[in-house]
Amino acid sequence: MKIDLPLKTGRSAKSLRAKLRGVFIVFGLVLMGLLWLMQSSLLEKYYQRSMEKKCRSGVDNIVSTLLRDDQIDYESFCGVVGDVASDNDLLVYIESSDGGFTLSSTELSASGRVIPDSRKVFSDARSMLLSSYGDEVTYTTENPRGDAMMVVAKELTVEGRGTLFIYALAPLTPMGPAVGIIRSQLIIVTIVVLAMGMVIAFVTSKHLAAPLTQMSEDAKRLGKGDFDVHFQGADYTEINELAETLNEAAAQLKTTDSLRKDLMANVSHDLRTPLTMIKSYAELIRDISGEDKAKREEHLGVIIEETDRLSDLVNEILLLSRMQSGAEEFENERFDLQKAAEEIVQTFRVMETEGYEFRFEPLNEEIYVNGDESKIKQVISNLLSNAVKYSDKKKEIRVFFEEEGEYIKLSVEDKGMGISEDQLGTIWNRYQRASQRGVRAKDGSGLGLSICSEILERSGAVYGVESTLGEGSCFWFKMKKV
Ligand code: ADP
Repeated sequence: MKIDLPLKTGRSAKSLRAKLRGVFIVFGLVLMGLLWLMQSSLLEKYYQRSMEKKCRSGVDNIVSTLLRDDQIDYESFCGVVGDVASDNDLLVYIESSDGGFTLSSTELSASGRVIPDSRKVFSDARSMLLSSYGDEVTYTTENPRGDAMMVVAKELTVEGRGTLFIYALAPLTPMGPAVGIIRSQLIIVTIVVLAMGMVIAFVTSKHLAAPLTQMSEDAKRLGKGDFDVHFQGADYTEINELAETLNEAAAQLKTTDSLRKDLMANVSHDLRTPLTMIKSYAELIRDISGEDKAKREEHLGVIIEETDRLSDLVNEILLLSRMQSGAEEFENERFDLQKAAEEIVQTFRVMETEGYEFRFEPLNEEIYVNGDESKIKQVISNLLSNAVKYSDKKKEIRVFFEEEGEYIKLSVEDKGMGISEDQLGTIWNRYQRASQRGVRAKDGSGLGLSICSEILERSGAVYGVESTLGEGSCFWFKMKKV
């Protein structure tokens, strides 16, 4: 058996390796792009925002202290301002609107940041506050020395203390040199990440693609008819499952192939035996019995018998192949299953002269089923003729019926040689032969049960067999009542 598989060996851009490499490169580039964006252009903004937050939280802290406790004494207030300045590393300055009260964190020991030349910044902030609509301003500026800083200024009116201006200043370290360093580091990191991505993609794709490539090679061998090929799995569940499925397919192909070879051998053997007989008897008539009427009749009888056997065999092969290809038409109709079975049993009653006993045990009522009556009759006939063929000393054959819910079950039971357990599973298979059990002497093509199973399956019937070696068998099938 040869199967042509459209497998290609060339690698294309769609190959697993190329795709994986592409994905890793794109991933690396996106990652690095994001880092570049964050570090170089957004760093300054982040930094400024965090300094602004510090200043604002310092101012808010002082404001909430004043609002909470308007009787706070000077000492405690200095403590709060000192803590705010040192905790946030700020320069905090507070002055009353009339200039009568001032407090700078630099005057408090070890508190916060010292920013020289801040006076001008405070006075600018105050004018901005006075000219603005709100009671708070936030901005960045430079002192006369050129040091950049973040300024948050707030105007607060406290009952009994008048209006206060609170300023929080945080020095802004220039980001330029830091960004420069980060950029040069990022270039190195980008190169390293891309190189690592390439290596990982190469190793991973090789690891992933290797078993698939091997499998495609093995599949080609399978296609060429090497059914002993074994598909090797890998460290991945999906590939293991694929390998398992392919191994199962290979095993089934192997079985089918060996059954096909068996059929060829068996059919040729079966054809050859009657042909040899026919030829031999024809020669006998020509050379010896031609003039002797009685002998000639006897020899012609053998020829006719063998010819019938041949045509039966050919008909069965044709029927089975028509059924398997779906060419055989089924003419479904409603019919009485028990009546149909009885008609077949009647045809077997001639064998009672040879010692066979046929017991037909119908149910009391008529039971109808839907199907092709003549084909179902053929099944019953095959089961009965097997029961006859494989009966031993006890030649009792029973055909009986049982109702099982919406089904009617027909059983053909014999007390014959029975079937061994290991054979039970295979007797319905195409080409399974009695010859394998050494009883080829019995008539039969080995196709009878395969034809039965094809008919029963196409009729929607359920079927089976129970058998004990040496005690007998009971073949049955169930059909839906209508
Ligand atoms: P065959 O033409 O060889 O009888 P079948 O397909 O009818 O082919 O049956 C397949 C095999 O099943 C038989 O060769 C026989 O071994 C077994 N078999 C079928 N019916 C019976 C039975 N009633 N008792 C014992 N063995 C049976």
